[in-house]
Amino acid sequence: MVVEVPRWSNAKMEIATKEPLNPIKQDIKRGKLRYVANIFPHKGYIWNYGALPQTWEDPHHKDKDTGCCGDNDPIDVCEIGTKVHSPGEIIQVKVLGIMALIDEGETDWKIIAISVDDPEAQRIHDIDDVKEHKPGYLEATVEWFRLYKVPDDKPENQFAFNGEFKDKDFAVEIIKSTHEYWKALLHKKADPGAIKCTNVLVRDSPFCCSEEEARLIVQSVRAKCF
Ligand SMILES: [Mg+2]
Repeated sequence: MVVEVPRWSNAKMEIATKEPLNPIKQDIKRGKLRYVANIFPHKGYIWNYGALPQTWEDPHHKDKDTGCCGDNDPIDVCEIGTKVHSPGEIIQVKVLGIMALIDEGETDWKIIAISVDDPEAQRIHDIDDVKEHKPGYLEATVEWFRLYKVPDDKPENQFAFNGEFKDKDFAVEIIKSTHEYWKALLHKKADPGAIKCTNVLVRDSPFCCSEEEARLIVQSVRAKCF
C-alpha cells in the first residue's frame, strides 16, 4: 500500500495520476486546497488511507457486482492498524475485506487491511476478525463514507451490497481484476484518457522511460514551482 493520508489528518492527499510520474499532492477544488470535514465524533480520516499500486478502476468497465463503472483511480485502502503512517510511506498490508462505495455514480472499492507489522495482524485474518477485535470500526467506516461529503453540500454516498463488507477472498478477486485493468492501461490496451503512465519500472510498457528521463521530468516540474 502507498500511504496518502495519515490517520486523524484532514488534508485530501492523493496520487495525482494526471501529472507526470504521479506525485502525491493535496487535491484542489475551485482553486482551494481540499480538506475533509470532521464527521462527528471522528477526527479527519479514521484510518491510514491510501492506494494499492498497480491497480486501476477502469471507468469504461461496468462492474458486474455494483452495476457502475470504475472511478479512474487505483483501488483505495483503509489501513486499520494502531500506528499513524506518513504520506508516501510504502507498507506491506494484509488484506481483510472490502466494501463498494458508490460515489457520485462511480464504483469506488475500499479495501480493509492491516499493516503486517501491527501487533494485532497476527490475530486478524479476515473481515469477521475485524468485527471481533476492533468492535465498531467497520460500522464507523460505513458511517464515515456515507457522510463525508455532506458538509460540502453533497448528498450522502450510497453503497453496493447494502453497505456490507465482503470477505478477504472477495477482496483478493477485486484486486486481481483491477490489476488486470492496470496492466491493460500500461500496455496501451485501454484508453488512458488524461492519466500519465510514464514509469521507470514496467520494462515492457511503451510508457517506460529511463531514470535519467524521469529525473529531467522531476527537475522541470520543480523549476516551474520555484
Ligand atoms: Mg477510489
